[in-house]
Amino acid sequence: MSNLNRLGAIKSIASRQIPAPQMAAPAEIGIYAEDVFNEQTMRAALPQNICEKLLETIRDLTPLDPAIANDVAQAMKCWALDRGATHYTHWFLPLNGSTAEKHDAFLEIRNGEAIQSFSGKNLIMGEPDASSFPSGGLRSTFEARGYTAWDPTSPDFIKRHSNGATLCIPTVFCSYTGEALDKKTPLLRSIQTLTAATKRLMKCFGKPEEHVCITLGAEQEYFLIDKHFYLQRPDLLQTSRTIFGAPPPKHQQLEDHYFGSIRARVLNFMTEVERDLWRLGIPARTRHNEVAPAQFELAPMFEDVNLACDHNMLVMEVLRQTAERNGMICLLHEKPFAGVNGSGKHNNWSISYGDRNLLNPGDDPLQNAIFLTVLCAIIEAVDRHADLLRATVAGAGNDHRLGANEAPPSVISMYLGAQLTEVIERLEHGKLRASKAIGSLRLGVDTLPPLPRDTTDRNRTSPFAFTGNKFEFRAPGSSQSCSGPNVILNTIVAEAFDRIAGELEPIAGAPDFHDRLQKLLRKIIREHKRVLYSGDCYTEEWLAEAARRGLPNNRDTMAALQALIADENIALMEKHKVYNRRELESRYEVSMEEYHRKVRIEGGIALEIATSMILPVAQTEYGRLVRSCAEAQAAGIRGGLASTVTAAEELGATIDRLHADCQALREALGRCHEEILAAAAQLRDTVDGLERQLSDECWPLPKYREMLFIY
Ligand code: ADP
Ligand code: MG
Repeated sequence: MSNLNRLGAIKSIASRQIPAPQMAAPAEIGIYAEDVFNEQTMRAALPQNICEKLLETIRDLTPLDPAIANDVAQAMKCWALDRGATHYTHWFLPLNGSTAEKHDAFLEIRNGEAIQSFSGKNLIMGEPDASSFPSGGLRSTFEARGYTAWDPTSPDFIKRHSNGATLCIPTVFCSYTGEALDKKTPLLRSIQTLTAATKRLMKCFGKPEEHVCITLGAEQEYFLIDKHFYLQRPDLLQTSRTIFGAPPPKHQQLEDHYFGSIRARVLNFMTEVERDLWRLGIPARTRHNEVAPAQFELAPMFEDVNLACDHNMLVMEVLRQTAERNGMICLLHEKPFAGVNGSGKHNNWSISYGDRNLLNPGDDPLQNAIFLTVLCAIIEAVDRHADLLRATVAGAGNDHRLGANEAPPSVISMYLGAQLTEVIERLEHGKLRASKAIGSLRLGVDTLPPLPRDTTDRNRTSPFAFTGNKFEFRAPGSSQSCSGPNVILNTIVAEAFDRIAGELEPIAGAPDFHDRLQKLLRKIIREHKRVLYSGDCYTEEWLAEAARRGLPNNRDTMAALQALIADENIALMEKHKVYNRRELESRYEVSMEEYHRKVRIEGGIALEIATSMILPVAQTEYGRLVRSCAEAQAAGIRGGLASTVTAAEELGATIDRLHADCQALREALGRCHEEILAAAAQLRDTVDGLERQLSDECWPLPKYREMLFIY
C-alpha cells in the first residue's frame, strides 16, 4: 500500500494547478506595520504627554511609570479591538527555543454584564503557569511560577488567524528570584552593557554622547517540500530531518538552483509570507533560491537587535504557517538532507552611534581611527572568546551542518577582505610595509583608502566575515534563536571596548593621543591576529593550521557547551551582569538535556522506521525472489536463474545486516549518545544501500530526488 502513497503523492502534485499571474499587482506596501502598535500608532492613540513619557521609557530603557500604565493599556485595547482582536497574550521566548503565548480574552463580568477589559496590570505583568518550560533547575517545581514583564522596547503586534486575532505583548520571562528563564532578558542586559561601553569608548575620542543602536539583519535559510511527501516521512514529521535517504545522483553539483528563477508556486508562497511580515512591520526585503535544490532564503533589512531577534522568531513562524496553507512544509532544520547544503542564519551585526555606523570606515581621519579601534576591539573579542561564540551555535541540528557541505567549520576565525587585511598589516608593521595602495598610515592624520564593498571579494567560507560595514556571523543554525549569538557578541565586544577605553581614558585629548592609540592597536593586532584567516575555511589544511595557531576547535555540541560553565566565562558574564553563575549553569543543563533527548528521539525513530517500514518491504522482496528461484527451478528454466539466486543471496545478506544493525541500535539506545549516533549511522548506511538496491516501486519513503525536485 505504501508504494501507492508515495507514487500517489507525485501524481497529485503533478496535477496541481498554479494560478495564472495577476495582471495588476496590488499595492501592498501600504499595509506595512498596520498590525503594530508602533510610535506612529501610539501618537495617534495616546494623549501627547503620556505618549512622550512612554517614548522616553523606550528610548532610555527606563522602567515604565506605573501612573501611565492604565492609559497606555486602554489605548492599546481600543486599537487592538479595532483591529479585530478578541484576546491578548504576553508573548515570550522560553529556553525551549520557540515562542510562548497564553491567551486571555478581553473579558470581564461586572454586575452580571460582560465587558471588554484590559488594565495596566494586565499589560505590565503576567504569571503564566510555567512549570513545564525548561529552567535547568532554576525553578524547583514547588515554586514553579515564573512571571512575564512587558518589554516596551519591542512593540505590541497583532497575530491573525482565519477566525480572529490576538494582541501580542512582547515580554521577558523570569523566575520570582529575578533569574532569567528566557532568551530576551540576557539580550536586553547585553544591549545595556554594550551601550554603556560604546558611550565610554566614544568619549575617549571626544565624541558627544549619542544614542547607541546595536543592529542586526538576520538572513534566514529554509527548505520547502510538498506536504504529501512530508506526511509519509515519520522522520521529518518528528525530527524535521531525514534520518534515512540516499542522495540522488544529481542534487546541487551543477549549482543551477542558486539565484535561479523562482518557481511560481514558491513565488506565490514568498509573496504571501512577505505580506504577513510587512503587516507585522518586519522589513522582509530579499528573497532568492539558495544553493541546494528546494532551498531558499529570506533577508530582512537590519533593525535594532532586540527587535530583530523578536522579528526573526516571527519570520520562522510565518514561514511555517504560510507553507502549510500552501500545501507545503517549511523545514527550518539545519540539515534536513544529508549530502546537500544545510541551512544557516547569517547574523549581520553592527553598532551605530547617533547616525553613524561604527563599522563604516568613513572618509575622515577621526572616523577612520574610530573604525579601526572598533575593528581591533572586535578582533580581540572574537579571538579571546571564540569558545563562547561557538557555544552559542551548538545544537544537535547544527552538529550535522557545521564543517559539512559549504557550512563554516567549528573553528571560529575572522575574514577581513584583502584591502582591510592590508590595512591591518600596515598598522601592525608601521612604515615597513607601506604599499602603493595604502601608503603611510598615521592614525588621526591620514585617511584610509576607500574600501570596496564588492561582494565578489567576500570569502564565503569564513564563519565570521567583515562585509563592508558589518560583521556577518555565519555559524548560527537556521532554526536557532538569534538571541544566543548576539548576547555573547554584545558582551565580548563590550568587554573589549571597556578594556580599551580604560587605556585611552588617561590620554584622551592629549596631543599624542593618536600615536598612542596606534601603538595600542598594534599591540592588539600582534596578540590576536591568529584569529584572522583569509583562505578557504572548508579545507583540512585550515583545520591543521588553526590547531597550530592554538584556535579552539570544539567539534560537537558536547564539547562546545563546556564553554558556558568555564569559570573565566562565568566571571566575564557576571562582570557585565548579563548572566549570573546559576543562569549559565541552568542554560548549560537545558542545552545538554535537549541535545541528549534529540539524539535519543532520532535513534528511536530510526529504529522504528527500519523495523516497521523498511524490513517488511525488504522481506517481501526477498520472498518474491526466493519464490521465483523455486518456480524457475521447478519449471526447468535456467535463464535468469543464476542472477536471481545472486540477487536473493545479496538481499538476504543485507537483511541480515539490517537485523544486526537494528539490534545494535536497540542496545545503544540504552547507553550513551555516542553509541546511539554510531549505531544510527551504521543503520543509515544499510538502509540507504537498500534504497538503491530494492525496486523503486516498493520503497516506502519518499526519496530525496522527489522531495527536493518535485514541488
Ligand atoms: P548582501 O550581504 O547579500 O550583499 P546586504 O549587504 O544588503 O546583502 O545585507 C545583508 C544583510 O545585512 C541584510 O539583512 C542587511 O539589512 C544587513 N545589514 C546591512 N547593514 C547592516 C548594519 N549596519 N548592521 C546590521 N546589519 C546590516
Ligand atoms: Mg549573507
